[in-house]
Amino acid sequence: MLTTAPRGTKDILPDEVYIWQYIEKVVREVASIYGYKEIRTPTFEHTELFQRGVGDTTDIVQKEMYTFEDKGGRSITLRPEGTASVVRAFIQNKLTDNPQPTKLYYIISAFRYERPQAGRMREFHQFGVEVFGAEDPSLDAEIIDMAVSILSKIGLKGLKLKINSIGCNRCRPDYNSALKDYLEQRLDKLCDNCKKRYEKNPLRVLDCKNPSCRAQFAYVPVILDYLCDDCKSHFSRLQSKLDVLGIEYQVDPSIVRGLDYYTKTAFEIVSEDIGAQGAVCGGGRYDGLVKECGGPDMPGVGFAMGLERIVLAVKAQNVPVPRNDCVDVFAVSIGDETEDVVYSIVKKLRDNGISCDKDYLGRSTRAQLKYADKVHAKYALIVGGDELNRNTALLRDMATGEQQEVPFSELVEVLSNALKKEERG
Ligand code: ATP
Ligand code: MG
Repeated sequence: MLTTAPRGTKDILPDEVYIWQYIEKVVREVASIYGYKEIRTPTFEHTELFQRGVGDTTDIVQKEMYTFEDKGGRSITLRPEGTASVVRAFIQNKLTDNPQPTKLYYIISAFRYERPQAGRMREFHQFGVEVFGAEDPSLDAEIIDMAVSILSKIGLKGLKLKINSIGCNRCRPDYNSALKDYLEQRLDKLCDNCKKRYEKNPLRVLDCKNPSCRAQFAYVPVILDYLCDDCKSHFSRLQSKLDVLGIEYQVDPSIVRGLDYYTKTAFEIVSEDIGAQGAVCGGGRYDGLVKECGGPDMPGVGFAMGLERIVLAVKAQNVPVPRNDCVDVFAVSIGDETEDVVYSIVKKLRDNGISCDKDYLGRSTRAQLKYADKVHAKYALIVGGDELNRNTALLRDMATGEQQEVPFSELVEVLSNALKKEERG
């Protein structure tokens, strides 16, 4: 136990962390280009927020939450997703009073008690966006465009965008009753979970992953046939905006999303390269949520991407990711008398923004050079007794083996120029 992390959690080691940093860099850049501001909310909230904001009938609330009583007797839950907290923060901090829309993004860890498998963890990470205060389908199209842009900028290929509309509280009741009529005749063939969903929130039966349940859905009524005029027009305007942006999509009436609060647009982006848990991004509109959580009647739309699944896809597709974890310079001192000079050169290079490391274990010269190679240093900077007398260092290009002698006073300049040149390739 002592040396094993809890099931469903994972250490992200230095060997892999550069992929995460690359993904985080892309999402931050794209979010800012699209005019989104970052929001950071607490890791835990009052349990009630998720019961209300995610919804009592969802798997998340019924089965997956990390809920505990704190020492003050409050019921606390580790966030299973980001939207409810952002909605709470939006209301509590009166961002509702600002000129709208409010465009927010977040990068968070989230917690769900699920059966761990590839792409499904108990602690996982999401990048998400939420936009409040505008109903226009051009915003639904904008966030979809943003998600697609992020994934393609990361370098992923072959992703599929599936869109649907799940109506609103005017048209969904009609659909629900048609759906219930259909399901009623097949109830004995559905899993226990679906039987419960059938009672409480029949739409969610369509979200069941169980193959024997799915087999029953062949002739299920399609929600798109039941949309009210408002929802119908919203959905067709969304599609024409996606056409304007040149984004390919597939209308898929089985996309109903796991969460209770969705209205109108629902979408998913799926990768076929990462196994059964293929959804890398899910989102949609939730016009009733802000009010449901105690705020004014304001519309919202958003999505969340699973970063673990994006990392899996990056690896599966061999996407080239720039490594940012090699040192530029490894400083090698030969003989005790050069030690302090080299120590101060290391500091000077670092002060000038050149990444630099040295030996700390009293290694031999040969071993220091071998180590420089191992840490992928671009240059070795070598100072022995002769160089010390001349106030110079030998600079060795580790890739070519070429060496030049550089005065101490010119090291920063020579190295900066060489590294810049290399960056330009
Ligand atoms: P799934 O159908 O895979 O369970 P979901 O509908 O529960 O997904 P959302 O709540 O919409 O997922 O979360 C958005 C994204 O977060 C998902 O598309 C997925 O990429 C990721 N995600 C959700 N749950 C997990 C998890 N347990 N581990 C890793 N990633 C997850
Ligand atoms: Mg889930």
